[in-house]
Amino acid sequence: MLQKIKSFFEVLEADSLESKSDVLINILLLAENEGLSEIDNGKTVDELKIIQTKYCSKKGLLPDLMKYMGKVSNKDKPVLGKIIHDFKITLENKFNERLTALKNAERQAKLEAEKIDVTLPGCNSQIGHKHPLTLVEEQVKEIFTNIGFTVVEGFEIEEDYYNFERLNIPKDHPAREMQDTFYLNEDVVLRTHTSPVQARIMDMMCPQLPVKIIAPGKVFRRDDDSTHSPMFHQIEGLMVDKNITFADLKGILLHLLKSIFGEERKIRLRPSYFPFTEPSAEVDVSCGNCNQEGCRVCGYTGWIEILGSGMVHPSVLEMAGYDPNEVTGFAFGIGIERIAMLKYGIDDMRLLFDNDLRFLEQF
Ligand SMILES: [Zn+2]
Repeated sequence: MLQKIKSFFEVLEADSLESKSDVLINILLLAENEGLSEIDNGKTVDELKIIQTKYCSKKGLLPDLMKYMGKVSNKDKPVLGKIIHDFKITLENKFNERLTALKNAERQAKLEAEKIDVTLPGCNSQIGHKHPLTLVEEQVKEIFTNIGFTVVEGFEIEEDYYNFERLNIPKDHPAREMQDTFYLNEDVVLRTHTSPVQARIMDMMCPQLPVKIIAPGKVFRRDDDSTHSPMFHQIEGLMVDKNITFADLKGILLHLLKSIFGEERKIRLRPSYFPFTEPSAEVDVSCGNCNQEGCRVCGYTGWIEILGSGMVHPSVLEMAGYDPNEVTGFAFGIGIERIAMLKYGIDDMRLLFDNDLRFLEQF
C-alpha cells in the first residue's frame, strides 16, 4: 500500500493531480485504515513503536508525503493538505490510545506475576540445637554456680609442671603411666586432665579463702576405642577452705549426681588412689536401669563408676602456698562423655564426635 502511494506521487510530475484526486483520496483512506488496523493488532509496546516509526517518524510515510506537496496545483493543495493532516491526527490519537491500553495491560500482568500469597506455607529452615556434651556441661555448671562455685578455664596446652609436678606427680613417678600423654616437647603437653587448673587457681588466689571453682574443658590422651577418645571433656571441681571435710565432698557429690540422674539415686564411695588427693575415692552411682538388681549397664553389680575424687593432698596445698595444717579441701574430676553416655543411654563414645545428624537430632 505504501509503495502504491509513493509510485502514485512519483508519476504526478508528468500528470496533474486534478484529474486523479478522487483516486488519490481513496488510496490515502485505504492507507489510513491499514495503519489503524496495524495499531490495533500491535501486541506489545515495542511492536507499537515500530508501527509509529513506519508512519509518523521523520522517515515515515506522512512526512514523506509532504515532500510531494510542491508538485500539487495550488487549487488541490488545501484539499490534499487537510487529508494528510487528518490522516496524521487520526493515527496519532489511535496510537496513543493503544499505547496506554498496552502499558496498563503490561503493568497488570507484572503485578499478577509478582503477587505474593501470604497464606502459602513457608520454607522450613532447619534449626540446630545443643550437642549432648554441651547439654551435660551446662547442666553441671548450673548445679555448681547455684551453690556458689565459680566457673574458670585453664589451658589445653599445659606445662608438664602444672599437668604433673604440681599435682604430686614428679618426672619419674609411676602414676604418669596411668595417663598416656601427648608431649609437645619435654616440658609442654596437651593436658591429660583438667586438674592443672587446681594448681593454677590456687597460685592465683593464695592466701585468699575460700577457693570454690569448677573448670570444664577438653583433655587429651592417647586412647581410641568405643569408650575412649583421644580428646574428651572433663569438669574439675575444687573447694579449699578452713574446716572442709570428707563429709562436704560426699554431700556435694550426692547433690550433683541426684541433680543429674534423679532424686532416687544413691552414691557409693570406694577407696582409690590418685597422687594429688589423700584419701581418694572412686564414686559410683546406683544403676537406674535395673534399680540395682543387676543388668548389663552396671555389669550386674547395681553400681556404675562415675567419677574420681578425694581430699586435696597436703603437698598440693603446700606447693600452692597454703598451710595444710590450717586449710583443707576436696577435689573431683567428672568425665562429661561418661555422664552423657549414661544419661542418654549411648553405648559408643565415638557417636558423640561423628557429627551424624540422625544421632544428634535425638537430643
Ligand atoms: Zn543395672
